[in-house]
Amino acid sequence: MKTNILIILCFNFLNLSYAQNYRFPEGGGEYVMSNNYNECLSEEQRLQIKQKLQQSITRLESSGKIIQKSKLTSPLIHPLFIWPVDKSDSTPYNNVWSISNHVDHNPNFPNAIQDWNCGSRTYDTSSGYNHKGIDIFTWPFSLFQMDNNQAIAVAAADGVIIGKDDGNYDRSCSFNSNNWNAVYISHADGSQTWYGHLKNGSLTNKNPGDTVVAGEFLGVVGSSGNSTGPHLHFEVYNNLNQLVDTYTGTCNNWSSSTDSWWQNQKPYWEPKINAVLSHSSAPQFNSCPTSENPNLNDNFTVGSNVVVGIYLADQLAGTSVNLVMRRPDNSVLANWNFNLVDQYYASWWYWTFSPIEMSQQLGTYQFTATYQGNSVTHSFNYGNLGINENFNQKFDLFPNPSSDVIIIESKDNLIINNIKFFDLLGKEVASFNNFQEQIRISSLSNGIYLIRVSTSDGVYSTKFVKN
Ligand SMILES: [Zn+2]
Repeated sequence: MKTNILIILCFNFLNLSYAQNYRFPEGGGEYVMSNNYNECLSEEQRLQIKQKLQQSITRLESSGKIIQKSKLTSPLIHPLFIWPVDKSDSTPYNNVWSISNHVDHNPNFPNAIQDWNCGSRTYDTSSGYNHKGIDIFTWPFSLFQMDNNQAIAVAAADGVIIGKDDGNYDRSCSFNSNNWNAVYISHADGSQTWYGHLKNGSLTNKNPGDTVVAGEFLGVVGSSGNSTGPHLHFEVYNNLNQLVDTYTGTCNNWSSSTDSWWQNQKPYWEPKINAVLSHSSAPQFNSCPTSENPNLNDNFTVGSNVVVGIYLADQLAGTSVNLVMRRPDNSVLANWNFNLVDQYYASWWYWTFSPIEMSQQLGTYQFTATYQGNSVTHSFNYGNLGINENFNQKFDLFPNPSSDVIIIESKDNLIINNIKFFDLLGKEVASFNNFQEQIRISSLSNGIYLIRVSTSDGVYSTKFVKN
């Protein structure tokens, strides 16, 4: 009998703590890379490119920079690719892309589509175009990423550059007849990879005839040519100039692609956390071609809200993300599971933490998202304690704690403009503009305060206890 009661009590307690921690997202949802179902490249443009590349290959063969196909020793083995989109060193994201379209294997049109996995992650058009590459779009903040060179196209395998197109407008949002910016590479067996829609002026300085190695920078992912937003169109031909679908799967029966062209072929659905970020307010997704306002912030003043966001690629229906907010002392402020109901190529969700919650402790917080066994942690400072770490190098403050009077002296003879006291809710409770070293604080009620010292050199903060 006793045992039963104990079990019931524990159960209730667990339910209660779970419910207290659960937070509804304040916003977010699916992100759709707008797709007007137009061709990444018109057949006319494709034909022109092929002719131009053939001329270039003939030139490079005669100058000995690439080996003539007839002189290649058989059997010719196609290269195995690495992923052609990477993040640049400066990005604050974990991952920068998701896939919107694969190659269309269904020759009929329109709206008769089938990808390598027998799914419909591809498109065709009423004019008879069946998508001929992989569209890898950038996420999150694709135009912001483009402006800040955060997502780059890299060579999928070693090879020789056989063509470059540059100088074309790169903020396309809908169908147009513009040409794209692109790099074209020939590989050892005579196969080709095309990297299209790149950012204007961002292309590698290397020229046709120069060699590149797998993973080498080719250009920044952009939206040049027939494009509805920044993405890489990756198109592949084998040494017989036949179009290749690099993925092997049930519904890819092309003779050009009997086996996978990837070193490690990715699964059809690959759920990922692309980013975990903190923001001063919810990010704004503007209409193309205006860049997003991500409102990123990693340094919050006391009194401000903290918005935390997660950015997923391949959100799977029926899965959940675990979210944990840890205080500076590593204690848990919140821990909850967020259930994902729908299936999306890209999604985002955000939550707001109030100054009342955040002001309980000042310092470095850690927000961790765990999805499908992978965790990503984002750290941010609350209470400008990032600056606070310098406080003791710059100032002497004593005594601390104090009940009556404190003295603040600059070690570097910095000119102090003013000193402000904030309570833990971020409310300014005292301000001193003219003072002679001593500050009388006897009127403050007992408790913890943040002192912010503004100088000609910047703002420095520290914690102070009135007792
Ligand atoms: Zn495409």
